[in-house]
Amino acid sequence: MADFDVLIVGGGIAGASLGAEIAGTLRTGIIEAESQCGVHATGRSAAFWLESYGGPSVAPLSAASREFLASPPMDFSDTGFLRERGDIHLTRDELPQLPSGVAAKIVEREELERLLPGVRPQWRRALLEPGCSDIDVAGLHAAYLRQFRRLGGKISTDARLSSARFAGGEWRIQLEDGSTVTAAVLVNAAGAWADAVATACGVQPIGIVPKRRTMVQLRVGRSGLRDLPLVDDAEGTFYFKGEGDRSVWLSPHDEIDSDPCDAAPDEIDIALAIDRFEQVVDWPVEAVERSWAGLRSFAADRIPVYGFDTVAEGFFWCVGQGGFGIQTAPAASRMAASLILDTEPSDDLTHIDPVNYSPARFAG
Ligand SMILES: Cc1cc2nc3c(=O)[nH]c(=O)nc-3n(C[C@H](O)[C@H](O)[C@H](O)COP(=O)(O)OP(=O)(O)OC[C@H]3O[C@@H](n4cnc5c(N)ncnc54)[C@H](O)[C@@H]3O)c2cc1C
Repeated sequence: MADFDVLIVGGGIAGASLGAEIAGTLRTGIIEAESQCGVHATGRSAAFWLESYGGPSVAPLSAASREFLASPPMDFSDTGFLRERGDIHLTRDELPQLPSGVAAKIVEREELERLLPGVRPQWRRALLEPGCSDIDVAGLHAAYLRQFRRLGGKISTDARLSSARFAGGEWRIQLEDGSTVTAAVLVNAAGAWADAVATACGVQPIGIVPKRRTMVQLRVGRSGLRDLPLVDDAEGTFYFKGEGDRSVWLSPHDEIDSDPCDAAPDEIDIALAIDRFEQVVDWPVEAVERSWAGLRSFAADRIPVYGFDTVAEGFFWCVGQGGFGIQTAPAASRMAASLILDTEPSDDLTHIDPVNYSPARFAG
């Protein structure tokens, strides 16, 4: 018998949430290359839930995740993970199109000035998406890992997959330290390393591209910012949200193709972010308190990928979560679990067709 029924490569939010959904039924392990889980994309996010983000194929997964994030079962967490703040999509002219079903209202200039004091005159109006919320990402990720362990799941850190081959009905996985582990099913939840892991397993990659995104924490000469809405523009060239009383988290909404790596911000992107910020509000920029970058990984169609490989037996893809992997994790992990466990999806997921996320769309 193999060491595990399922071995998950990657201990970020994708691997942790899927693991927590299957560990009660199947003997499941997570191997994580780093000395702790969550140091890559999961630990670097902007930490918001925004239903319109990612477009119409992603919105159903975000919407179906909201209740769990807001009011998780007591045995998962005794507190919710969301704090509502709303989002203002600013525009100079045309209002943005949001996926259908997303609650939003038009905000004219006078109300905009009240919602965002100091907004510059060229921003004539906005669309307010009131449901936008902050996510306690560290709390959510920790709760998934806790649940995974409680149900019998095993986590190995400093455990990098270096190669794997399928033979005799099981995967034989070679780790970088020379040890070997076997599993009937291998789950690729390796984030930016998704294609590299597939290649190392002798599986045809599906074209997952990591793209760097920069975040800057600015101190500004204005107070009362903590609870302001998230602010972005219809063209997708920046977003920022209040962090402390006089600080914001800001991104230039960059998407720079990258090899998988420990991403770091580039000075030019920090300067670009500040330049764009100064064109939105008249708040004096006092200091860059910190900056960081992470890799958001996308399939060519920017739709995440969940499902068994169409050629390689026992190889499951859980990748391409782009900029929405946290806010979709509760629904996506349950959908992926139902594919692995071969069970019917729960009632609240029956309107979401897993075929839309299948790797079969890349076959051939
Ligand atoms: C700046 C930024 C802002 C974002 N903002 C948001 C947001 O507001 N809301 C939201 O929902 N999402 C956001 N995202 C996206 C979200 O962070 C990602 O979609 C999500 O974290 C992806 O999770 P993951 O588990 O797939 O990847 P990761 O967290 O990167 O985990 C993959 C893991 O696989 C491990 N691994 C790789 N190769 C191997 C190997 N060979 N062996 C063993 N382990 C391996 C890595 O070490 C890594 O820990 C943001 C991302 C960034 C970068």
